[in-house]
Amino acid sequence: MDWRIQGSGVRFLCDEMLHRLGRWLRGAGYDTVIAEGGDPDGVLLARALADGRKLLTRDRAILQRKRANEVVVMLNSDAVRAQAGFLGQTLGVDWLLDPFSRCMVCNTVLTPAAPEMDRMVPARIRDQGVPIHFCPGCGRLYWPGSHESRIRATLLDFARASGR
Ligand SMILES: [Zn+2]
Repeated sequence: MDWRIQGSGVRFLCDEMLHRLGRWLRGAGYDTVIAEGGDPDGVLLARALADGRKLLTRDRAILQRKRANEVVVMLNSDAVRAQAGFLGQTLGVDWLLDPFSRCMVCNTVLTPAAPEMDRMVPARIRDQGVPIHFCPGCGRLYWPGSHESRIRATLLDFARASGR
């Protein structure tokens, strides 16, 4: 089966065991829902089919279910870097697709922060005139800094693990 994807149209649903991977997918710019703990397999599968999302899971039992082959992507490693590399190699996930376009915490698309929000940002950042982004979903502010450069370094490492 050819699971390879084109562009950024692909969307994901991660089971709760893969929440770290899910946050990184958001960080790379992919629309990713992370399941709440305790959702049964049938609920996850139905949601993935209804939303047109790839269902990322470590749970092999789900493969027994009808239509699982349409959406389920089985991950065989517990290590996030290996999972990331697998998605890059098999699905063509681009870890450098559009970093910082989406909130890693709640999956909402970020917008430029309004000028009146600037006062919530440390003055040393504000004075640099760097772009500041706002999450309309959870209210977080994002700006270039040491945290952001660490995230970029990890995404770059995932891209390398994907052989890109
Ligand atoms: Zn958010």
